Amino acid sequence: MLALLVLPLALAVSAPGLASPTSGSAVVPDRSSTGEQNGVGLMRIVVADKSGIDRLNELGVDLAEYVKPVDNGIEVHAILSPEESQALRDKGFDVQDAISDQSDYADNMAERSASIRAATAATASTDTLTVLRSEWFSSLNNQLFLNIEVKSSAGTDSTTVLTASWDSGPGTEIGSGGTATMSRFTDAGQYMYHRFSNPVAINAAPAKATITSNKGGSVTVDVAKWLGSPRKVAGDHPYVSDFVDHYMDPTEVTARFTGLAAEFPKLTELIDLPYKTNGYRRKAQAQFGTAAASIVYVTSTAYGSEGGNDVSMSLVNPGTANAPLTVSMSGKAVTVSLATNGSGAITSTAAQVVAAVNGNADAAKLLTASTYRGNAGTGVVAAAPVTNLTDNLKAPASVSREPFQMKALRIGKHRDGSKVGVFLYCQEHAREWVTPLVCVESAERLLRNYAHDPNTRKIVDDLDIFILPVVNPDGAHYSMYDYNMQRKNMTNYCSASLADPAARNAWGVDINRNFSVGSVFDGFTGASATNCTGETFAGPSELSEPEARNEVWLVDKFPNIKLSMNTHSYGGYFMWPPGAYKAAGREVLPRVDQGTEAYFWTSSDYILSRVQEYRGTAIWPGRTGPVTDVLYSAAGNSADEHWYNRGIIGWDFEVGADVYNPTTKRFTAVGFQPSFAEGHEEAMEFANGNIAILEVARAYATDKIQPQTTLKIVKQEPGATAFTFSISEPANVYYTLDGSRPTYNSPKLALAGMREGVQNIAVNSDTTVNWFSIDIAGNVESNYKPDGAGRNYNKQAVAVQ
Ligand SMILES: [Zn+2]
Repeated sequence: MLALLVLPLALAVSAPGLASPTSGSAVVPDRSSTGEQNGVGLMRIVVADKSGIDRLNELGVDLAEYVKPVDNGIEVHAILSPEESQALRDKGFDVQDAISDQSDYADNMAERSASIRAATAATASTDTLTVLRSEWFSSLNNQLFLNIEVKSSAGTDSTTVLTASWDSGPGTEIGSGGTATMSRFTDAGQYMYHRFSNPVAINAAPAKATITSNKGGSVTVDVAKWLGSPRKVAGDHPYVSDFVDHYMDPTEVTARFTGLAAEFPKLTELIDLPYKTNGYRRKAQAQFGTAAASIVYVTSTAYGSEGGNDVSMSLVNPGTANAPLTVSMSGKAVTVSLATNGSGAITSTAAQVVAAVNGNADAAKLLTASTYRGNAGTGVVAAAPVTNLTDNLKAPASVSREPFQMKALRIGKHRDGSKVGVFLYCQEHAREWVTPLVCVESAERLLRNYAHDPNTRKIVDDLDIFILPVVNPDGAHYSMYDYNMQRKNMTNYCSASLADPAARNAWGVDINRNFSVGSVFDGFTGASATNCTGETFAGPSELSEPEARNEVWLVDKFPNIKLSMNTHSYGGYFMWPPGAYKAAGREVLPRVDQGTEAYFWTSSDYILSRVQEYRGTAIWPGRTGPVTDVLYSAAGNSADEHWYNRGIIGWDFEVGADVYNPTTKRFTAVGFQPSFAEGHEEAMEFANGNIAILEVARAYATDKIQPQTTLKIVKQEPGATAFTFSISEPANVYYTLDGSRPTYNSPKLALAGMREGVQNIAVNSDTTVNWFSIDIAGNVESNYKPDGAGRNYNKQAVAVQ
């Protein structure tokens, strides 16, 4: 019923997206009137041009990170309720069909539950046994021996006992050949596996053995002949991958990382980031009444988990004439006895009830009452039975309601700051469920392949890798259990006029708009500083949020970090700074220089080829490049923070490239939460991308090769000659035309234009060109010292006819 009262979205207001939160003009997307997932869908919109996207942004429309040129304009995607879709259509926007809707969410959650149930059934009370070897052999006068090695997933627990039983040949019973307890083998304090201390002497060659664990695990395996016959391959290690089998919430992801740190202490350390989040928690609320003027809603002082959920309130008709409005307390129950007139009819208005409740010192300790969305509250309220306040949070109790301790996993053989650092981070936006899987998969691959894969060993030995799998844990829990399209964190900065229960899915700060470079507070576009319910709300100030501060703390604490990757979803993009512009005149943050841009393109080719290797997905050239060129302005994003404040190369992935359907011959957008089967593929291919980034970083760290350049005449006309430079690898060229020695202050070869090649330089008279080049790793051509006095730079005369 509430939905009828509330105008949909900011669309109803003409001021672009800046409706004051205190205006009470119902600008909040009302997506929770049913208390459920509210019928929102991910909708396709076609706009004529980029100004249409800017206009949607200004209206506060919740856009996906997806832009696609189509025949008649540009296709973008937005999260909209049916009412919001209609409001946009009324404004002339071409809102088309849904890419995904709530049935997809239901399917995903059912699939996830089934997967977790299966895993729990297998591991809750039982351990997993992995057979490393099982073989028999003869030796010493034809005496037969048995050798078995088995790794238990509970093996780090010293009370884990494994027992092996074997048969006495094909078709015989397990146990008929014998039974023996295995020894727990540890090396340098680390559990390796269980084995027999010595091969066990046996009387007959077994065909099968069963190993059981006192922790419940059991496995039956063939016993092969050792030496003289083909054996099961146990020593030949292929590259291992595929470590995620369901969508994971932040509690699970953090537990996984904690486990990895414990399992690989020599290669890792777990870093507790200093700023705890506000936590997956909310104040408890209840709302009384249905018409805006007579609605009263109350909010607990304590979080729901800290007593707020125990508070209740009732509005009682005293059943007598001329009764006064009173508030009384019994424990945590607040009873409002409503005023009546001479004929016994209720006369208390919403405003009067609010004043009475807030004016009662005892009640005010437990809760605060408000009228609805700034309404004057002149409507008479209706009696209502005892109503429990609730925080409405639906995650299981295993999800803590305390402030969340974010943890980054540092991986590297030498974690002393001497190696080039790379920062991989995921899930700034809560609803992008695939992204934490990319970080988990990347960490698992590095650690589990280190022992046997030379390439992994090089990466881990030569780099200092920091992986933060979930930047927005509170929002991510909320997205998984309460409102799947949640993008922001959970912290509510709205005043009472936008803090009623129906607004709760619109609260929070967009972490990737809360950083300090090119922010909305600096005048850049693509975020809101005032609309607390807008999906790109930048927070009350730059770096107001602990989630954003933790990122900044990490890159400040470890200045060896030179590259970063910020993984988002969806659309299939590879992007770099600049990521924001001022709308007026499209004043973009400074573009990277020619050498850096060339390096980014060369790196893209390598990284995206590795993404493609997994299942053939090609990230399109049109979705590769600076954020402002291929997506839209995102004021205050983290990649710009890293690049412009610290010189850290700040890359962004959008996983989830459009999938080509060979039958319809069309590309289909995948959305934020595809079926896990698709999400899994995205995690695998972009984990490939992360590994490739590490390879690129290692090449950067170990690059000792100097760039080489030649001067090239491109055009000669009477009175003017144009030239440029050929460069052996991505590098910047500094040159002079006046015969002076080139330095870092000399002119730098630029690009001819956005996404173009290098510029041509024209001279009108005979000129001596002096120049040198320097690559991104700092290698200078011919080992020239631009700051020194040497003259070993390049020089060439350019003649003019
Ligand atoms: Zn995102």
